Amino acid sequence: MTRLDLFIDRMVSQRACLDFAMAETAAMAGPVFELGLGNGRTYHHLRERMPGREIYVFERAVASHPDSTPDPAFQILGDVMETLPQALGRFGPVARLIHADLGGHNRAKNDVFARKVSPLVQPLLAEGGLMVSSDRMYFDGLQELALPEGAVPGRCFIYRR
Ligand code: SAM
Repeated sequence: MTRLDLFIDRMVSQRACLDFAMAETAAMAGPVFELGLGNGRTYHHLRERMPGREIYVFERAVASHPDSTPDPAFQILGDVMETLPQALGRFGPVARLIHADLGGHNRAKNDVFARKVSPLVQPLLAEGGLMVSSDRMYFDGLQELALPEGAVPGRCFIYRR
């Protein structure tokens, strides 16, 4: 596979998994958490498909496209290793949907990070809430779901509390 193939698989998988997760959790109240704003493409997708929903973005430093930059009130700035525990104190276990796309190009490093961040993500999800991730996560209380049509195995993962 070329890097272009991998990139395309990641993009189509993100869209398929996010569309599935938004539909599955449509009846739930509670905020959405986007972990890793980057260029803001997935944030823009969530915002356009869920108008009026509260979407909080966790990011070290905002550098997104101007069309895809959340209001400062919805930016939670800093390292997620610190901001996720703070968010648990602020919000409690209420997130309807959490999307994580925090990784870079090094898959081994991404896996190490996913192991560290998983226990900080799990308690933020509401009962029945879904977590979508570009990396395999390491949860002890969440159920991994089958991928929706269009998603490529290994490029996206979905978990339910
Ligand atoms: N999903 C985004 C999009 O569609 O444009 C791309 C996200 S990009 C691959 C990953 C982002 O996660 C980067 O902007 C990076 O700064 C952020 N990030 C990575 N590790 C982080 C950490 N420990 N704390 C906060 N943000 C982090």
